[in-house]
Amino acid sequence: MARAMRWCGAVFCLALVAAGDSGGKQWPVHDETRPRPKVVTPGTESTQEQPGKPPSDAVVLFDGKDLSKWRSAKGGEPAWKVDHGVLVVAGAGDIVTKEEFGDCQLHVEWAAPTPAGGEGQGRGNSGVKIMGRYEVQVIDSYEAQTYADGQAGALYGQYPPLVNASRPPGQWQMYDIIFHAPKFGPDGKVLKPATATVLHNGVLVQDHAELKGTTAHKSPGVYKAHPPKQPLLLQDHHNPVRYRNIWIRPLSDERP
Ligand code: MG
Repeated sequence: MARAMRWCGAVFCLALVAAGDSGGKQWPVHDETRPRPKVVTPGTESTQEQPGKPPSDAVVLFDGKDLSKWRSAKGGEPAWKVDHGVLVVAGAGDIVTKEEFGDCQLHVEWAAPTPAGGEGQGRGNSGVKIMGRYEVQVIDSYEAQTYADGQAGALYGQYPPLVNASRPPGQWQMYDIIFHAPKFGPDGKVLKPATATVLHNGVLVQDHAELKGTTAHKSPGVYKAHPPKQPLLLQDHHNPVRYRNIWIRPLSDERP
């Protein structure tokens, strides 16, 4: 009897371990010795009047003060303007972060110029290019016409946004992006494509979309092997788009 109970206990325990499999070490369900996740103090919500606060563990890339975390994509100091706590595209070329990032959670707030001016792809165009290659399009898409895979929230040239969640030009809009970098083999072939999930003003517009390669104009996207971390790029498309409250949380493969 005791032997039978021991056997049943072992089976029960194995079932619990399987249920608690987190992809790495296996933990029995509700194991009190399992390490707790680290504590992060959440940020605060932004309003149209003022930006919110980032979470406590975020790398702050722009908080309204200066461009110390950025350089020109061509090298040297970035020539974009900081005006009353806001970063403004200045027609002086793309800017990139000094630090490099791979898998990440990224928060960016932007506003198209007002009055909007321009048509199609010339209407408040900029872009958030993760790893300098994978563009989440920034453009005025509020009652505006352009091709679907070039609208706000599009993964440019590859995936239109699931819905158009745009606010009118001049108003602050938010992107919250979860990005996983592609993985390449030693021969440069793609082992795992990059993926992006994007919320535009809190609305899901990209749902774990698998990128087909570097986003580009009139190209379906082609992968070219690159390092696992690269600078984040903001695109200068010669329209005075404004940015504020930019932060990033690098993501680790490790799970608690
Ligand atoms: Mg763009």
